[in-house]
Amino acid sequence: MTTSAELFDRASRHIPGGVNSPVRAFKGLHRPPIFMERAQGAYLFDVEGNRYVDYVGSWGPMITGHADQDVLAAVRARLDNGLSFGTPTEIETTMADLICEMIPSMEMVRMTSSGTEATMSAIRLARGYTGRDKIVKFEGNYHGHSDSLLVKAGSGALTHGEPSSPGVPASLAEHTVTLSFNDPEGVQACFDEIGDQVACIIVEPVAGNMNCIPPQPEFLETLRRVCNEHGSVLIFDEVMTGFRVALGGAQAHYNVTPDLTCLGKIVGGGMPVGAFGGKRAIMEQISPLGPIYHAGTLSGNPLAMAAGVTLLNKLQVPGFHDALAQRVDTLRFGLQERADAAGVPMITQSAGGMFGVFFTAQSRVDNFAQATACDPEMFRRFFSAMLDHGVYLAPSAFEAGFMSSAHTAEDIQLTLDAAEKAFALMAS
Ligand code: PMP
Repeated sequence: MTTSAELFDRASRHIPGGVNSPVRAFKGLHRPPIFMERAQGAYLFDVEGNRYVDYVGSWGPMITGHADQDVLAAVRARLDNGLSFGTPTEIETTMADLICEMIPSMEMVRMTSSGTEATMSAIRLARGYTGRDKIVKFEGNYHGHSDSLLVKAGSGALTHGEPSSPGVPASLAEHTVTLSFNDPEGVQACFDEIGDQVACIIVEPVAGNMNCIPPQPEFLETLRRVCNEHGSVLIFDEVMTGFRVALGGAQAHYNVTPDLTCLGKIVGGGMPVGAFGGKRAIMEQISPLGPIYHAGTLSGNPLAMAAGVTLLNKLQVPGFHDALAQRVDTLRFGLQERADAAGVPMITQSAGGMFGVFFTAQSRVDNFAQATACDPEMFRRFFSAMLDHGVYLAPSAFEAGFMSSAHTAEDIQLTLDAAEKAFALMAS
């Protein structure tokens, strides 16, 4: 039997760090990442034959569980027609219609091949549309790895200690203004000073790349108001929250409407897909209608569209998201009970189908400073113990957890039993 350790050794020879995305590395965990062989429903199966209840869900897309039979059948049905044509196909329109129907603030939409491309293109569009260079983002929010957005970023950039990446020209980074998440006064002060130079605000409406931090009342509303007052474009990066926090995304859940929305993950059903869209007047500035360039050889790839359209249709079953949030609550409250009983200082937070676990004595975590003040060693011990008991969590304290509709009551109970053992170990 080949082990993960052997595969990681081999991988490390020709792949930097042995991984194709740094969030997959087990940074500071003193063990090699686990190589998976297959997945089904709520489970991942590794190359050594171990099964894990998975709360990563391929970092979000697998909201109905892994290897969803309907999604696979839709891809299979198109496979023999060919993989890509580089011409328009009907299913791209089906996808666009579906997105615009499910998220009404999106009057027009363009497909991309990743979330990074979606946010990068939305930023360019906002800059081109307003004729301004400055963008506002929030500390610990992650919007992919394009240059303007790798300034004080979250996710792997934070986990690996490089929130502002070398290689981003200072002359570009100086146009990115970074503010504190959940601080409406800070936003107001910034816009009082430079509002008329700001092309856009880009925000994760629920921060999911510094653990899971929901917006506080008035935060998103303030963003909407200052953008209206100063002619800036409000961009919600719903790559993670889209179709997860609610059917219509975080914007439906919190009732704040952005000008542009970025999507990824669920919209591709596990295939490489992103999308950005919004107000018609802005979107009509994109080439070939307007002068602002956006393109992609594989954008709107028919197999990827088939997977995404099938998954989005499955989410429209009434009550889907309520049931998902209930599962999250069962998990959260069960964890809290067990941590309290063991005397481990821990809190949880959630929004719809995403959640976070923080090792802290604070009663809530609202921003980057509070998220990074949590105990990293406690997280590492929790992660390792959970893994040893068959539960796969994101290998970083700065990532959200993802629930799927394939997680059964038994899966959640197994997770809580594992947590009880983990907490006992951590308390000792
Ligand atoms: N925005 C957000 C909110 C994300 O969580 C991510 C990825 N985790 C991205 C953008 C980038 O997406 P991708 O990894 O597909 O480029």
